Amino acid sequence: MGRLTALLVVVACCTASADGPRGELVTRDVYLMGTRARLATPDPTRERGLATLATALDVLERAERELSTWRESSAISALNRHPVGVPWHAGPTLCRTFEEVWRWHAASGGAFDPAIGRLLAAWDVHGDGAIPAPPARARASAASGLALLAFDRTKCTLTRQGDVAIDVGAFGKGEALDRIEAALGNVPWMVDLGGQISVGGVGPQEGWTVAIAHPCRRDQPYLHVQLRDGSLATSGGSERDITVDGIRISHIFDPRTGRPASFDGSVSVWHRSGLAADALSTALFVMGPEEGLRWAESRGIAAIYLIPEHGTVRMAVSPAFRNRFGRLQGN
Ligand code: ADP
Ligand code: MG
Repeated sequence: MGRLTALLVVVACCTASADGPRGELVTRDVYLMGTRARLATPDPTRERGLATLATALDVLERAERELSTWRESSAISALNRHPVGVPWHAGPTLCRTFEEVWRWHAASGGAFDPAIGRLLAAWDVHGDGAIPAPPARARASAASGLALLAFDRTKCTLTRQGDVAIDVGAFGKGEALDRIEAALGNVPWMVDLGGQISVGGVGPQEGWTVAIAHPCRRDQPYLHVQLRDGSLATSGGSERDITVDGIRISHIFDPRTGRPASFDGSVSVWHRSGLAADALSTALFVMGPEEGLRWAESRGIAAIYLIPEHGTVRMAVSPAFRNRFGRLQGN
């Protein structure tokens, strides 16, 4: 999962007032799913607010236990080491998650492909980085791709057709945020999970003011948008990329070539579904601004690229993003 916060919540919910008990913002900061998380709710009483956040936290912890590949005991880790050719049963929630994963993999033409665990391991993307020798690279590529996992939707089984492994980096956080939404109902809330922000419940008209980070300096806000519902996910390189022997290795890979993606800016995607926003920001990063904007436009997807150019930043925005967030003013 992501390690750095790409998006910062800069302003509390607009009905929240620092003075009165009504609308006071209750927040919690935790470290979870390999990243920092901030949870907030403008519940009128502190007790109710804390109970809301405890529910959200519980959902996140359960999602981590099920999805995290850092945990040997997680369902995904069990799938990743399940014998080749033997069907593995997914529970009903995970089965729905996989349906979404398959859907966005197909829609993105394979730019989003979480079955690249072996590829990421060969390049040591979650460690110090490495340039694999051609035979190791070929072996990792041959063991990568969702095509190597047969998914039977009716039986909810997955069957590994080779030594393939799922990496949840590009969809786990989004899925966890969707599970919070399902658990909280109408209570207004905001969760920033390592840079992906979801908000939900019946909230204030104006929504939550959130910052999209500068593409080269993730700790600096570049522009602000008002988030009323759904989820805003950002994929970017900057300090998460690794340099080995002078070669920059992006933590995002192009599954179509088996090589690190070459785009050096960031892309943010808004979607009603957290999983979709998460998966699509990664897919659009892989595609890069030219192919990605065409793709987003043709499907009505709300996306914004921040492209470092000649010492400044160029914004490339899809019509759906502009319609949703209005005038965009970068720093
Ligand atoms: P972040 O983790 O910073 O929020 P992303 O949501 O874009 O960034 O997810 C990137 C992570 O997803 C990588 O660190 C890796 O674990 C995994 N990944 C890399 N490339 C792909 C890809 N093309 N499709 C699916 N998962 C990927
Ligand atoms: Mg993502």
